[in-house]
Amino acid sequence: MHKKLYIPGPVEISRDVFEAMMQPMVGHRMKEYATLHHEVTDGLKKLLNCNDPVFLSTSSAFGVMEGAVRNLVQKRCANFTNGAFSGKWHDVTLRCGIEADRFSAEWGEPITPEMVDVALATGKYDAMTMVHNETSTGVMSPLAEIAEVMRRYPDVSFIVDTVSSMTAVPLDVTALGTDVCLAGVQKAFGLPPGLAIFSASRRALDKARRTPGRGYYFDFEEFEKNDLKDNTPSTPCISLIYAMAHQLRKMFDEGLDKRYARHSQLAEKTQQWILDQGFSLFAAEGCRSHTLTCGRNDERTDLESLKKLAAERGYALDNGYGKIKNSTFRIPHMADFTAADLDELFALLEELLPAARS
Ligand SMILES: *Cc1c(COP(=O)(O)O)cnc(C)c1O
Repeated sequence: MHKKLYIPGPVEISRDVFEAMMQPMVGHRMKEYATLHHEVTDGLKKLLNCNDPVFLSTSSAFGVMEGAVRNLVQKRCANFTNGAFSGKWHDVTLRCGIEADRFSAEWGEPITPEMVDVALATGKYDAMTMVHNETSTGVMSPLAEIAEVMRRYPDVSFIVDTVSSMTAVPLDVTALGTDVCLAGVQKAFGLPPGLAIFSASRRALDKARRTPGRGYYFDFEEFEKNDLKDNTPSTPCISLIYAMAHQLRKMFDEGLDKRYARHSQLAEKTQQWILDQGFSLFAAEGCRSHTLTCGRNDERTDLESLKKLAAERGYALDNGYGKIKNSTFRIPHMADFTAADLDELFALLEELLPAARS
C-alpha cells in the first residue's frame, strides 16, 4: 500500500508529474534536449528574476552544497548554522578539506543579520553559507536583511540553500545579490528526487575559474561552458527535467503570487491547528516557515505510536529530525499541497491522537 507522504521531503507527487516523466527518451546531445534545457533554465530564471545562468545538476542538493564550497572558498568559509541541514553543511565543508568556522544560532532561532555582520567583519572569510529555510526546525531566516549586510562584503561569496523555500516564497536573486542560490527538487518544487538547480552570479563564475581543487562533477566552469550550448557536463536526469518543465508551466499557470499566497495561508492554517491541539510551535515567532511547520511535542503524546497508527491507515508522518526527533514533529505544506490535503491530515490526526496520548 502506498503511504501518502506527509513528510517534508520527498513530498507526495501528483500523477500528472509522473506522466510528464513518461515522455520518450532523447539523447542529451540531441537538439530535442537543448530545446528542453532552454525552456527549463529560462523558466527558472524567470522564477528567480535571475539574469545570470541557472544550472541543472543531476544530484541531490548536497552535491551542489559541496560543489559551491569547492568552487568558491579560497581562504576560509563561515558556515552559519541553526539546524541539521545547515550544520551538516559545515561538516561537508570540512570534509572537503576547506578551512571553515561555524557560527550557530539555537535550533528554532533564525540566522540574524547581526550574526553575519559580526562574523564577516573579522575579515577572515571569503565565503559564507546559510540555509534560508531550515527544514529540520521550520525556521525561515530573514534573507533580505542578511542580503543587506552582504552588500558590505562584496568579496565574500554569498551561498544560500533554498532547498525547501524555492517556489514557495518570492526569491529575487538579482535583488538579493546571492552568488549561489540552490535547491533540490523533491521539496517545494514537488518533483521526485534526483535533480538540483542553482543560480551562479558572474562574480561566482569568475572566482570559480581561479579556485584550485574544485574537481569535475561540480565544476562551475564545466556547467557554464555546457549551458552556453543548452547542455550539461554529463548525462542529466532527462525524465526529471521533463517533469520540471511541466511543474514550471503549472506554476506560471497558477501565478507565482497566488502560489506564494497559498503557501503562507497553509502555514497559518497549520500553525493554528497545532495550537488548537494543545501543542506549541517550535520556531520562534516572526521566522516561521511557509513550507513546513514544526510543532513541539507535549509530555503525553507518543509520536512513534501515532506514526505507526497512521501508517496502518496509509499515511506517512514525520516525528522530528536530528536531535529534536520525537520531541518535535513537522507538518509539510509545500509544492502541490492544498487546504484539502491538510484537512485530510487533520481529520486523521484528530481521530488517532487520543489513542497515542496517555
Ligand atoms: C532536504 C534538504 C537538504 C538535503 O537535500 P538532499 O536532496 O538530500 O541532498 C538540504 N538542505 C535543506 C534545507 C533541505 O531541506
